[in-house]
Amino acid sequence: LELPHLSFFAGAKIPSSFPPERVSEVAFVGRSNVGKSSLINALADTTVVRTSDKPGLTRQINFYAAGKIFNMVDMPGYGFAYVKEEEKTQWRELMETYISTRKTLRKIFVIVDARHGIKLADVEFLEVLDKKGVEIQIVLTKCDMVIPPDLARRYVVVKEKLQHYKNVADDPLMVSARKKTGILKLRKEVLRTVDA
Ligand code: GDP
Repeated sequence: LELPHLSFFAGAKIPSSFPPERVSEVAFVGRSNVGKSSLINALADTTVVRTSDKPGLTRQINFYAAGKIFNMVDMPGYGFAYVKEEEKTQWRELMETYISTRKTLRKIFVIVDARHGIKLADVEFLEVLDKKGVEIQIVLTKCDMVIPPDLARRYVVVKEKLQHYKNVADDPLMVSARKKTGILKLRKEVLRTVDA
């Protein structure tokens, strides 16, 4: 099972630069350094997002076309410690506009580090997302960094926290971009979401 070939076609720093709403979209978001680029690359089974030339603080939404079938959307990371208030406001406005207005958005995959679980920055973002009524799927990544008994415990803790939200899928997915575990299941979930 593969995703259609992904190719970058638009980057938007402001809402007026969003590309036209032609096909269904799934978006990926998470705290900075959570492993989002690695995960998108693992899903695509090729290097789509180059980690090396990724400027840490780019407040930009990147759009990748998956063939002509759907779009994968890479959202700028949140929870960066040293970001100026002004930049945070800009980030919030860009994200909120995208989430509130994007008619083709089918689901947001919120990437969470399995070692750390749901942090305050995640909670703040989830609160906003949940109120907008957009469907959310939590993905625990870097699962290879946690020993299995701990992973099982952490899974339960995360699952309990998710009960609080109306639009978050009950079961977090568990993956490792490095070991490629859980990637097939996530790929299926993406394809199912966009009816591909
Ligand atoms: P992003 O900032 O969220 O896009 O994060 P990156 O994909 O650049 O990953 C941040 C760091 O985490 C890099 O050093 C990656 O090699 C590492 N990383 C990403 N995914 C995994 C994973 O599944 N397992 C492990 N062990 N490390 C990972």
